Amino acid sequence: MLKPHAVVITNLFRDQLDRYAEVSAAAAYLREGIAAVPEAVLCLNADDSLLFGLADGLKNRKVYYGFSEGASRKSEPKIGEEGTRCPRCGAGLKFSCSSYGHLGHWSCPECGLSRPSADISVESFHEGEDGSDCVFDIFGKRRLARVSAPADYNVYNAAAALSGAIAAGYGEDAALGALSSFWQGFGRMERFGLGGGAVMILIKNPACFDRAAEYILKRQGDFDLFICLNDFDADGCDVSWIWDAEFERLCEAGERLKSVTASGSRSRELVTRLEYAGIPREKIAVESSARRLVKAISRLQRPTYILPTYTAMLELRRILAEKTRRSGFWEG
Ligand SMILES: [Zn+2]
Repeated sequence: MLKPHAVVITNLFRDQLDRYAEVSAAAAYLREGIAAVPEAVLCLNADDSLLFGLADGLKNRKVYYGFSEGASRKSEPKIGEEGTRCPRCGAGLKFSCSSYGHLGHWSCPECGLSRPSADISVESFHEGEDGSDCVFDIFGKRRLARVSAPADYNVYNAAAALSGAIAAGYGEDAALGALSSFWQGFGRMERFGLGGGAVMILIKNPACFDRAAEYILKRQGDFDLFICLNDFDADGCDVSWIWDAEFERLCEAGERLKSVTASGSRSRELVTRLEYAGIPREKIAVESSARRLVKAISRLQRPTYILPTYTAMLELRRILAEKTRRSGFWEG
């Protein structure tokens, strides 16, 4: 049996319900596993009330990480979002700020339960195209670090990794240094020198899509989008999650969004979703061949963003790697 020094949990969001079941079921499985290793340090996202509920009453030593108010927005999560009810009494939570989804500074107006204070806190961060410059508070000490992976969710991931490394006995300097030197690959914000520059961002659930859209919308200039929706076993056969993802946000790009190409085994549903989201029909194209899709990307002089589900990512990545002579992801 595994005997981990530390167990790190990032967050709980809906993900391919036909494979992983409801969030509450996933939380129950995680709790059962953690209860079997009471000596492991549990590293939890303080901003996720679902994780507080998952670990409530477990004997493990806990280390919390999260975003400070300064790194968050003065907004409340959407009503009805999972994680917006008190993990102890079930009353509706209040939020003084939030980062995205149901993550934020939560408190219960009924029983007084509130977000635990974070041992490792993101005080602020400046997000760039290739990464973020972050100010962390690590057990009361202010430390600066570069996180060499773009987008806000990777700042959370960095805080989670820091907490895990420190809980497992690594020094702060080694852990902070590693954040700036790792390589982003395998379809997760992976860059390919093709056409005007292509970035591949794996999508597989609503939260994933929404974070990818947020990152793309923050970039400057015109761009084209390629979205590939498959429904094979490793993607999840149920593609209804696209109706929970905020495709409407793509309209915020206005004229900067030049075209959206739908591909994959469920491209037809994707086109319907894009139309409902308000993307003008003349901007939407369909391409069933992955090879032709890559060819189209190579002809464009603008930045492109490729959003594939898992099996579509494998196929597209193989063709893109051939074209750009990239080695296999496992070869570094
Ligand atoms: Zn409560």
